[in-house]
Amino acid sequence: MSAARPAPVVGVLALQGDVREHRAVLESLGATVVLVRRASELESVDALVLPGGESTTIDKLLRAFDLFGPVKDAIAGGLPTLGSCAGMILMARDILGGIEGQQTLDAIPMTVRRNAFGRQVDSSEVELTWVPDGSSMHATFIRAPWVEAHDPEVEVLATADAHGGKVVAVRYRRCIATAFHPEISGDSRVHEALLALIAESDE
Ligand code: GLN
Repeated sequence: MSAARPAPVVGVLALQGDVREHRAVLESLGATVVLVRRASELESVDALVLPGGESTTIDKLLRAFDLFGPVKDAIAGGLPTLGSCAGMILMARDILGGIEGQQTLDAIPMTVRRNAFGRQVDSSEVELTWVPDGSSMHATFIRAPWVEAHDPEVEVLATADAHGGKVVAVRYRRCIATAFHPEISGDSRVHEALLALIAESDE
């Protein structure tokens, strides 16, 4: 019998956004959560979450806290990472509707459109297709982006059929990005997929 694996340590970027909700889901799945506000805190984590919030603000804070380069390098080096909503925008190679000077971590070769569902639509509940097994997933979108285009290597994880089948969750290498907020829907499949990426890295 093999020894029990130690609990995975997941960093949640805690500069702005819905940090607490991600923490609660991750802890409910048995992970130990570390809030990341400085580069040294990245060293101890097995995975990272970039929460939703406001991508332009998180971009500026990443740079103000000298975290932009370290986070970008950690993801490029294979750290399993989940970005939700603003986090998805940060992970994209290209943004449509960004503000002047807005930068991204360029982790996933995709183009996302900010506030794609319309600025008026503050928040909506949408039934998605979870592509890996064809099941449905109830998801909450808050001034969300969608994926406008992506390279062929990017795997589609979820589509919004009510919005013409728009791509709203993807996986690329060890990165997962969702346009919606899996931390508030009561469905932990996205966080489980992140923890599965850690297990894959250990094999
Ligand atoms: N519209 C926000 C942005 O551009 C994202 C909203 C969210 O994360 N809920 O960053």
